[in-house]
Amino acid sequence: MGQSYLFAGREGVGKYLVARWFAAGLLCSSQGERPCLSCPSCSRVEKGVHVDLKEIAPEKGMISIDTIREAQNWLYLKPMEGKRKALLIDDAHTMNIPAANAFLKTLEEPPASAVILLITANPLWLLPTIRSRCQVVRFSPLSSTEVKEVLKRRGENTELCHLGEAFEGSPGKILELVSSPNLEEMREAAMLLLEGEASWSSLVGRHLKGKKGWVREKDEVIRFLLLLHHLIKSRMLEGHLSERVRRLYERLTLLEEEVFMYNLNPQLVVESLMGV
Ligand SMILES: [Zn+2]
Repeated sequence: MGQSYLFAGREGVGKYLVARWFAAGLLCSSQGERPCLSCPSCSRVEKGVHVDLKEIAPEKGMISIDTIREAQNWLYLKPMEGKRKALLIDDAHTMNIPAANAFLKTLEEPPASAVILLITANPLWLLPTIRSRCQVVRFSPLSSTEVKEVLKRRGENTELCHLGEAFEGSPGKILELVSSPNLEEMREAAMLLLEGEASWSSLVGRHLKGKKGWVREKDEVIRFLLLLHHLIKSRMLEGHLSERVRRLYERLTLLEEEVFMYNLNPQLVVESLMGV
């Protein structure tokens, strides 16, 4: 077994779940198959309170050098319970340059007890020197049968499964979407927009005035973009698109990148669709 792994694959295909499962296996105290998922150690990993597992995720879209230093100090202390410690860094590509450079030193000489798990949907945004020091584990999109299975197990309505292909084999994206309390309202707005029965600005007017006002919330705006994107994509699979919808689709694709890269606020996202 190696000491440093990079789990790479698109959003919502299970990288984080597998990383947690892998960490549970490292720390499990069972003599049999590991992780047993029932010993005290496994249940502490499950609850996110195991003393020998540390998880880092971006704050305000970034992992800073302070966070990395703190994790390094923690990693160089002896394990409290067993022989190993696991450090899990989610969205590892959000380390800024000083953080990434500081972290490189740990990857070059990790303490013997350490196992490091980096997770990213954008491996090319990591420093090449970081990538080359990790064993890269690639995660593929799930088949539509697998997507359906995940939704069923989560007790979710499988109505959205027909979008499976359009959701690029990512059950996580569908789960993210269906968690919205405004899903029905959004679906209705998206259909009006696609049929050309309402303009974006009239929809924004309507949903800003509403009590819930989902266009004010960034997470909800992103969910709406996701829904719209994938409704268009599934139409695309069925046949051809009108020129207007095609333009909308191109704008959406760009916008999704921008939202992610520049951490845009919802107002800007809403405005930048106005011209479409
Ligand atoms: Zn266990």
